[in-house]
Amino acid sequence: MSFQAIEGQERATRLLKLSMQTGKLHHAYIFSGLDGIGKKKTALELAKALNCRQPGPEGGCDLCDSCLKLEKGNHPDFVHLRPEGSQYIRIGQIRGLEEQINFPPYMGRVRLCLIDKASHLKIEAAHAFLKTLEEPPAGNVFVLLVNDLGDILPTLVSRCLAIAFIPLPFAVIARKLLEEGASAEEAASLSRLSGGSLGRALRYKQTGFWEKHQAWLEQLEVLSPHKSAILLEGIKKWLGSREEMLEKLEMGRVCLRDILGASLGLTENGELPPVQRDRVAALAARHPASVWLRRLALIDRTAEYLTGPANPQLAWEMLWLKMART
Ligand SMILES: [Zn+2]
Repeated sequence: MSFQAIEGQERATRLLKLSMQTGKLHHAYIFSGLDGIGKKKTALELAKALNCRQPGPEGGCDLCDSCLKLEKGNHPDFVHLRPEGSQYIRIGQIRGLEEQINFPPYMGRVRLCLIDKASHLKIEAAHAFLKTLEEPPAGNVFVLLVNDLGDILPTLVSRCLAIAFIPLPFAVIARKLLEEGASAEEAASLSRLSGGSLGRALRYKQTGFWEKHQAWLEQLEVLSPHKSAILLEGIKKWLGSREEMLEKLEMGRVCLRDILGASLGLTENGELPPVQRDRVAALAARHPASVWLRRLALIDRTAEYLTGPANPQLAWEMLWLKMART
């Protein structure tokens, strides 16, 4: 691995390499873009390049003790901050970070502090972190990861150098899926459905994407305002952690978009396997597109609730009861 191994993000990696070569590295970066397109990997390669014993023009050597430790995830100068309990990055975590960065790096030249899902900084944590970014101790580089720059305080954005990561071309994702043992049909459909995120495509492949797609369609088929009991019984088995629920909602979005596509006569559904295509067409024929649009909006709203403190079971049940009434 080196910067070269990060596919589809040449602009971002070129910018980082150039700033290192010219000694103009910024003290804080924000990498923005979809999940699963190489942001975290790039941050890791940046840490390698900054601390490698024998760095080359493409970054770390992958052979020295520093590169190896970074690759294994046990380098003392790589700090990885992420939401606790999959919800927020709290002020206690920022205080801990502040203590750490006041010491010089232990074994390398630069400590890289990765703030993963920086949009999940609790407001007081964000304000505390803002102060850290104003006067950062030497020897520290911060990298914040966000899906969208609009998701975090503008004052935080203004203290960082923003680098946009772009969705990967479908062909790149399809090739990776084939390398991972996917069939040609699977690679073609999942790469398109991934929206340009390799991470998402791989997750779809590993977690039985079509089975879940089918389960959603089956559940949508029993949607009726008069069958609340059957409906609630059917969705009970789907309950899980907040993260799992958010992933299920993501799958729901995919299904609803497929149905909407069929309802509006768009031909995008060519990527669906034949069994799914027939079910999607039958569902689309049941209601006008406006109903499916409203249901899609309900899914979006539920996902918003679930990123907050909402009770997952309640939010989940309300979603299905409301969808049944549309
Ligand atoms: Zn190295």
